[in-house]
Amino acid sequence: MPVRTCIGCRTKGEAEAFFRLAADPSGGVAAELGGRLPGRGAHCCFKAACIEAALKPKNLARALQEGLKPPAPAELAERIRGLLRQRLEGLLAAAWRKGVLTPGREAAFRELEAGGKLLLARDLAEASRRAIPPGAEPVELPLRMEEIGGLLGRGPVGVLALRDASLEGELARRAAQLRSLGGA
Ligand SMILES: [Zn+2]
Repeated sequence: MPVRTCIGCRTKGEAEAFFRLAADPSGGVAAELGGRLPGRGAHCCFKAACIEAALKPKNLARALQEGLKPPAPAELAERIRGLLRQRLEGLLAAAWRKGVLTPGREAAFRELEAGGKLLLARDLAEASRRAIPPGAEPVELPLRMEEIGGLLGRGPVGVLALRDASLEGELARRAAQLRSLGGA
């Protein structure tokens, strides 16, 4: 696994821990979660302070090229939050198509006992939260019940279970990255 370095804080880690910046053809700065954009890339943590530091002209010149016109840090953070939300929705839709997602509280609790992971909507009612079995360690999704239901083609869904280790890992990681950027 190649090691990447955040150009904001110099923390090292694997590529999945960062988003990627690249120069776009018009002299601006493009951002992506993966590594598809062509040309030289630079990596950055999902943190407001790192985005602010990364976009300093001196940093961009060293990591990408001279003379780029960087976006405002808040604007780039909003773009990254949008990409993370999109990715989370894509992961849920993929899990639904694959048949490893179980919506609804009772059915989800049964899946939990069988080794599934609980996922909760951000606007799940407090009373419903109290019914979560102790030790479940659910993933808090940054999506509302209505948004989750919309992805599955049904009414509002507050509790789901996921049974797929690799999707579960990425879902939890992306949700945490979005929270770290203040997008929960
Ligand atoms: Zn950083």
